[in-house]
Amino acid sequence: MARARVYRHDVRCPGCGSNWMRKDGFSGSRQAYRCGDCRRRHLPGGAYLRPGPEVKERGIDLYLEGNSLSAVGRILGYSAAAVQGWVKKRGGKP
Ligand SMILES: [Zn+2]
Repeated sequence: MARARVYRHDVRCPGCGSNWMRKDGFSGSRQAYRCGDCRRRHLPGGAYLRPGPEVKERGIDLYLEGNSLSAVGRILGYSAAAVQGWVKKRGGKP
């Protein structure tokens, strides 16, 4: 039996407004979702959480330890593009 799409009515994609949200692990203690339409990842119950400086530092450290941008993003709950931005601001690759 194929996996049915799960439409959530309490969670809506902030990017495209779709209700097709799939669970996508956790960010901290919060359940994260990924939009089935535009693939944007987000956390319900609030806007995108702005990463504090300590989150960025951690992300940069993880990246410098050899994790890929997407892996770091997945660990911290941010997009690879966001992580790339932190790394760039910090002064780029080692
Ligand atoms: Zn979407």
